[in-house]
Amino acid sequence: MQYIDPHIHMVSRTTDDYKRMALAGCVLLSEPAFWAGFDRSGPEGFRDYFRQLTGFERSRAAQYGIAHYCWLCINAKEAENVALSREVIKMIPEFLDRPNVLGIGEIGLNKNTRNEATVFLEHLELAARTGELVLVHTPHLADKYPGTRMILDMVRGESRLAPERVCIDHVEEHTIRQALDAGHWVGMTLYPTTKCTPARAADMVEQYGGDRMMVNSAGDWGHSDPLAVPEFIFEMRSRGHDEATIRKVVLENPLAFFGQCARFDFVPRGETASLADA
Ligand SMILES: [Zn+2]
Repeated sequence: MQYIDPHIHMVSRTTDDYKRMALAGCVLLSEPAFWAGFDRSGPEGFRDYFRQLTGFERSRAAQYGIAHYCWLCINAKEAENVALSREVIKMIPEFLDRPNVLGIGEIGLNKNTRNEATVFLEHLELAARTGELVLVHTPHLADKYPGTRMILDMVRGESRLAPERVCIDHVEEHTIRQALDAGHWVGMTLYPTTKCTPARAADMVEQYGGDRMMVNSAGDWGHSDPLAVPEFIFEMRSRGHDEATIRKVVLENPLAFFGQCARFDFVPRGETASLADA
């Protein structure tokens, strides 16, 4: 089955991972800008990172027949430095005309601090002003529920942003309903340790029906699995779900969300343009 991994950090993965993903059916992935595992020393570090995401990484993926898209921002961890964040936010528009850029992300909160909220709001303002899609990282563990509430309130406060142009990522059982009820798309992250497992994601698809729901690996430089989306497909098949239901979550939903970006022109093999427009 052709599938999309809508959230994976390929700069931290090997070329062998691209090959294994291609063999497993991955036709497209999207790579949000994130924390490198260490704080960058200044804004030029972000310029080079954005060049990597919009150039080199795209051609690396193409060698395996995988379309590469990306999102740009300064992540919540480094957003604690507001002065640095403002320099990065000012730089982002230089890259917004690159063909593989989907929008602003993954912005969000980490420890739910005042500085993180300030920078989150300024990213939202940029997205609203430039008409970009938004991908939102929600915090981990005990910070997730209050952080998600703060995020949903701030997004609601930016009236120029239509809810269906925002994806709330890393949702879990206690946050998914609020995000869906607010009209957003949601991402369920399939991680070996925290966040969500393929079985819990399948439970949520059964409970909420699959509309506006996506699954991703969020593979990065830590313990994670770039083949987590195929694991979800396997789990859904083993429960007896039909191929159409699975395909909606792993292919059609990300295509519909990304399709709202004017630069997005991907059409899956063997499909007509109408699927991407759906
Ligand atoms: Zn991420």
